[in-house]
Amino acid sequence: MHILVLGAGVVGITTAWYLRQAGHSVTVVDRQKQPAMETSFANGGQISVSHAGPWATPQAPGIGLRGMGRSTAPVRFSPTVNHRQWRWMAAFLLQCRPGRVRANTDALARLAIRSQVELGLLRRTQQLDYAHAESGILHVFFNRKELAHAQQRARILHKHGIRIDVCDAARCIDIEPALASSTRNLIGGLFAPNDESGDACAFTRQLAQRCADAGVVFHYETTADSLDMHEGRVRGVAVRDARGVRGLLCADQIVCSLGTHTRALVEQHGPRPALYPIKGYSITFPAGPNAPRVSITDEEHRIVMSRLGDTIRVAGLAELGGHTVTVEDERVRLLTGLTRTLCPDAGDIDAAQAWAGLRPCTPGNVPLIGRSRIPGLWYNTGHGSLGWTLACGSARLLADLVDGGSSDIEFPHLTGKRH
Ligand SMILES: Cc1cc2nc3c(=O)[nH]c(=O)nc-3n(C[C@H](O)[C@H](O)[C@H](O)COP(=O)(O)OP(=O)(O)OC[C@H]3O[C@@H](n4cnc5c(N)ncnc54)[C@H](O)[C@@H]3O)c2cc1C
Repeated sequence: MHILVLGAGVVGITTAWYLRQAGHSVTVVDRQKQPAMETSFANGGQISVSHAGPWATPQAPGIGLRGMGRSTAPVRFSPTVNHRQWRWMAAFLLQCRPGRVRANTDALARLAIRSQVELGLLRRTQQLDYAHAESGILHVFFNRKELAHAQQRARILHKHGIRIDVCDAARCIDIEPALASSTRNLIGGLFAPNDESGDACAFTRQLAQRCADAGVVFHYETTADSLDMHEGRVRGVAVRDARGVRGLLCADQIVCSLGTHTRALVEQHGPRPALYPIKGYSITFPAGPNAPRVSITDEEHRIVMSRLGDTIRVAGLAELGGHTVTVEDERVRLLTGLTRTLCPDAGDIDAAQAWAGLRPCTPGNVPLIGRSRIPGLWYNTGHGSLGWTLACGSARLLADLVDGGSSDIEFPHLTGKRH
């Protein structure tokens, strides 16, 4: 079969890889000059199997309300008149119920475990080098209530065989001595020794090269404008190149991995996938001699810190209502300030390069993987805060589904109303 994959982020490129490995003829389309130029460019770097949970929890509405309109809140909600935002928010609130939290955590954990195995296989067989580290992820807490909630979530993950150790403050510093210089009052932590980290952008670009070597065709600087329908079925995509020249790319099946832009392409044809952008920021700076080696998550401020070779990447902040990737100085100052208090000796924070990206979020953080309600159109998108963690497993699953396989993971999208 000839399959068109729309999007060359980490999700689109892994999708192209597994489809090609399954023997299909694959073409990838992306509006940028090279892979991983948008949300997959400078994320937090964590392969966070231990943190594969939804953002929609019983505590989330309170966190959102406290951050309403406040530019110094790590989680900021800026209400707009956009009806999509309100519809998405209503769906998000429904996912905060304990039963949905359990189901979403279960689906995400299963996908994350599978993904880590697939990523390891790919790394070894394709000799991919992306500043990969297997030093675990340490979740640190400065607030007893947050630690108690995280311990509850860890119990669900334990059931899936994910190892998470509860640590007191001294044990946290044993695991990552760079935390000794923190200016905050560390209460304790959860350590997931089997978690990993690595540079998603380097991974995606190398895998794209392996795809090209295996015969995948790439059309960069090519924007997908609309779907081309014939007798109720999609048969191609109307595209436009960098000079504005229009054309049509036809295929037997089309996989949409456009991240947060998926909705704009498909809604002209009826479906309204529940996707909404949640903006985040990262800074990257040279690592100092006492920089952390273990990836760290500060749960209270929703930031993560990963060592990527000679650099440190700190990522986080969440803004509902931020549709652009404009880098706002005030938000960067917030992120650098939090970095200075969490790990003052991490490196040359003054030399930090800032970036912002849009997480393609579904209300329950569970991605859309599988058939859409348009015949011939598939989704592999909506990986929210976990796209790097889930990419390989999602792509493998999508390729199996295209070939007639079934999913043993409960995706609301596959079992409920089709988007
Ligand atoms: C601050 C931040 C920190 C994060 N940290 C982590 C982390 O530590 N661990 C983790 O697992 N995840 C993390 N994530 C989430 C992760 O980065 C995303 O889930 C993932 O990158 C999404 O990948 P994607 O391929 O779906 O989207 P993208 O990378 O955005 O790819 C979509 C592609 O579609 C292309 N495109 C869009 N519209 C069109 C069009 N009309 N025509 C043609 N091409 C188009 C774009 O150019 C882009 O290349 C983080 C995200 C952010 C923002």
